Parts: sequence; C-alpha cells; structure tokens
Amino acid sequence: MADRVLVTLDGVVRDPDAPLLCADDLAAVRGDGVFETLLVRAGRPCTIELHLSRLQRSAEALDLPEPDVVKWRNAAELAAKQWGTEAEGAMRLVYSRGRESGGDPTAFVTVGPLAERVQRARADGISVMTLARGHSTELGQTAPWQLLGAKTLSYATNMAALRFAARYEADDVIFVSSEGRVLEGPRSTVVIERGRTLITPPATQGILPGTTQRALFEVAGDAGFACKYAPLFPADLITSDGVWLLSSVTLAARVHTLDGLVMRRSARADEIVSLVDVAVESIGASK
Ligand code: PLP
Repeated sequence: MADRVLVTLDGVVRDPDAPLLCADDLAAVRGDGVFETLLVRAGRPCTIELHLSRLQRSAEALDLPEPDVVKWRNAAELAAKQWGTEAEGAMRLVYSRGRESGGDPTAFVTVGPLAERVQRARADGISVMTLARGHSTELGQTAPWQLLGAKTLSYATNMAALRFAARYEADDVIFVSSEGRVLEGPRSTVVIERGRTLITPPATQGILPGTTQRALFEVAGDAGFACKYAPLFPADLITSDGVWLLSSVTLAARVHTLDGLVMRRSARADEIVSLVDVAVESIGASK
C-alpha cells in the first residue's frame, strides 16, 4: 500500500514527491481548470462514472478539450490499485488548461489519506453556519460564465468561507442565496429529511450537481424514501427531521448544530448513513 499516489493521464505512475507542474501552469496561476474528488474504497474508485460525466460537463463549460474518458478511467483505476485495499483514500482528478506558454492540457490523478476531519464528521456529525453566498439563484442562468455548475479549480472563496466559519467554531457552511434560499456547502450537497422524504435544492439554482446525493437518490426509492428536488429556505432546515451534507469522501455528515441550534438525530439517521454507503459502492462503478 502506498501512502500517496500520482498517476498522469498517459498511465505513468510517478513519484508523488517529484515536481510535476511548470510554474506557468494555468491551474497554478489562474485556477483555470476542473477537478473531481472521490473516494477510494477496497482499491476501487467509487462512483467513478458519475465523476467522469461531471468532469466532461465541467470541461465543456470551460471550453477545455473534451476529456478522454477511457484514459481517465484507466488512470483512476490504476491509481486506486496503487493505493491498495487496506484503507480508504481520497482521489483527485485534475485537468487544467496547461501551460500559459502553450501545449497540452495538464491531467493527472492523485490519491492520499483521508483528512482527519472526515472520520470525525462521519462519526460525530458537524456544526454548520449558514453564510451568504452573495448572489441570486438566477446567477447560473443569467451569467453562465460564472461557471456555477462546473467543478472548477477556483475554490479559494469556498475555502475562505470554511475558515470564516471556523473562527466561530463551526465545522462547515451552508451557503444561502440573496433571496434567502438554501444552496449548498462549499464542498457538499444539502439534503434534508422530512419523514421518509429526502429533499435537495435543484441544481438549476446555481449549485454543483452532487454525485453522492445523486447516488443516494438512486437507491433511496427502493428503500421506501421519496426523493425530491425543491427550493429550500433556512427555516426548512430548522423544521426538518434531519439535515445532511453529502460529499464523495466524507459521504454523509449529519448536521448536529445549525447556527447554534441543536438538531436532534432522527430515527432514520442510521438508515440514511447505510444507504449512502451502499449507494457509493453500487452506483456508477467502472464500466
Ligand atoms: N457542492 C460543492 C460546491 C462541492 O465542492 C461538492 C463536492 O466537492 C459537492 C457539492 C458534492 O459533490 P459530490 O457529492 O460529487 O462530492
């Protein structure tokens, strides 16, 4: 088992400590590229097909050359195999416009250990603060160049929101639009429980379509949950039976405190955690 893995899109396993990017790579100087983060479990990249589809859509939004999905799948599988089966890992697929001076796009896959906060969030849940995102739910449609539905490498504001929340001792953030609608987390999708109904805001409101939420919705119907896409207000979070932040590596993080208010754990919480677990292992496995 490796402690870190680096594979380039040409299928070469590289030394993860050796320099890879040139100083003028547009990933480094402009954040001009796209990426995916996913879980490696049992030596396999989970929900890889959902991530490859989103990588294609993100690349299209940025006018990057169409990703060669076969090469990406092979590189991801090779990297997961190199990582091994002993522990879960966090995989990144990174695809930038390449060097400012010209040439091919930059494309590589890495795997590393899960951040400490991941196990804590899974086991104990998280405290969350709602923060203004500073724009309307309409922005995605009125200003497509804002790339709201694409997973771009420009995550500085998302990271700044998390640091801001940390100053108030919150583990995570739920962004709210200028109309006061619930959007998403800086690195997660919001899903609420209302009885046996699961609700998430529609991606048309200028948020990233989450692969974990999608995988959950694919399996939850058979488990007797109704799954809906509907606009939500912060009051819907407070009056819900449970608020979850879903994401590929952490999977299901239950919000135990929202803006200082303690949220009780519903009788369905364990079931939801198991469903997400089953979903990421069964939906979108390699073709
Ligand atoms: N929304 C944003 C802004 C994200 O960065 C992420 C994940 O990184 C998500 C939602 C959740 O997506 P996924 O479940 O595919 O990890």
